[in-house]
Amino acid sequence: MCEYVYSSGKKCRRKPLKGSKYCSLHIPFEEGELLYGEKIKEIKRRAFERSLERGVRHFEGVQLYDIVIIEKELKEALIFRNSKIKRLVIGKSKLKNLTLINSEVDSLIIVESTIDLLYVTGVNSYGISVCSVDFKSSILIRNSSVKYVMINSTEFRPEEVTAEEEFGEAGRMAGRIEISNLEGVRRIAINSKYPLIERLSKELGVEFNVVKRPVRAHTLYLGGIKFDESPRFKRQVRIYVNRFSGQLLVENVSVPGHVEIVNSKVRYPEFVHVTIYNNIVLRNSKLYSDENWNLAYLPNLLAELEVYGFIVIENCHFNNPYLAEVFYRIARTTWEKSGDKEKADEYYYLEMLARRKRVLQYYRKGPKTLRRTFRLLEVLFEFFFADLTCKYGTDWKRPVFLWLALVIFGFPVLYALTSSVTPVNSGFDYIYFSIVTATTLGYGDLHPVGLGKVIASVEAIFGMFMWAVFLTVFARKYMR
Ligand SMILES: [Zn+2]
Repeated sequence: MCEYVYSSGKKCRRKPLKGSKYCSLHIPFEEGELLYGEKIKEIKRRAFERSLERGVRHFEGVQLYDIVIIEKELKEALIFRNSKIKRLVIGKSKLKNLTLINSEVDSLIIVESTIDLLYVTGVNSYGISVCSVDFKSSILIRNSSVKYVMINSTEFRPEEVTAEEEFGEAGRMAGRIEISNLEGVRRIAINSKYPLIERLSKELGVEFNVVKRPVRAHTLYLGGIKFDESPRFKRQVRIYVNRFSGQLLVENVSVPGHVEIVNSKVRYPEFVHVTIYNNIVLRNSKLYSDENWNLAYLPNLLAELEVYGFIVIENCHFNNPYLAEVFYRIARTTWEKSGDKEKADEYYYLEMLARRKRVLQYYRKGPKTLRRTFRLLEVLFEFFFADLTCKYGTDWKRPVFLWLALVIFGFPVLYALTSSVTPVNSGFDYIYFSIVTATTLGYGDLHPVGLGKVIASVEAIFGMFMWAVFLTVFARKYMR
């Protein structure tokens, strides 16, 4: 009998290999190679396949080189415990559960398969790749040491949503991709380029039809991840989320490199106790939230997300102006800290736009009380005097052009149409009168009559106001 003792206390009942105390599954790599050379790989492979055929699903303490499970349907959970596996490939298969516990799995690849639950815990691995997989329950990668985690084209496909699940917690717990308490991580990527599948296809002689599609889940949870801090990887993108659809929850993570979220539809983006030492880029993405979530979580975002580099928000759409406001605000503060006022101004303008939208939305929804009406008027005032004139003080060219356009063209035309200036000899006199009025010189050689008095008064105020705006904005831009 093989000498291996299971954690239950029972002994392995398989026949030991000739010259060893262990069976073909349990014989350590080194001993096997010493006794059988390269042939041990084939011996182990066949032993595993036979066990699988006989219905063994629970493997403990096995040492295997290359496990390839292609086009198989396993109705029971497949479990590996305290084992060492060089490579585990599952392709074109239907699995119930795949559980890896306290094992060493150099590389785990699941491609074009259906699985209820993938549960990885206490595993030491170089890479875990999940590619084009439909999962019915969850993908949980926990308490492990994994360098690369890649999830591509993977969707949560619940079998049937019962009414109970729909309203209860059970429904919400499923559909979770959880990557938590990992250490030594170099990169976590959702839908990144992955040439390995092609290579695998060639190597195994199996055609994999990997359709590019978004990764869909209720929640993508990244928590308690310790990244490989070595300087070689420091500047790399550490968390890359591309074409992801679902809630994003990042908790207790400090990222030495960049974070990128692109082409995604993110619901309730939540960052709790997150520090990013480089930049965070949000690009071509849609971010969603609702009122309740805004009240409960959004105010914390500013305190919970610390970014040492920059926040770049490009071509993003927010369904909720409050969400936009908060994101643009943290983006602005990162640029302000670095001293790039121009970029900070850009985000400041977007932040103010979002704020205005929020007030408008608030006004539109509720009952029209006097207080709300005043608030609306305030917003209108803000639009005319702060946005239209100078983009909230970020654009000094605007007041100049506006001033020139109205003083040289707009007002003179008004005077001419109403014939409200005397005495005039030519069209130029209207322009001259307009300039003299706007600059409040008022020589008195020409003077307004009738309606002209009203127009001239407005112009005088306008001229003074715009001059003040120009000076303020100009000074703000260049004199600091
Ligand atoms: Zn054994």
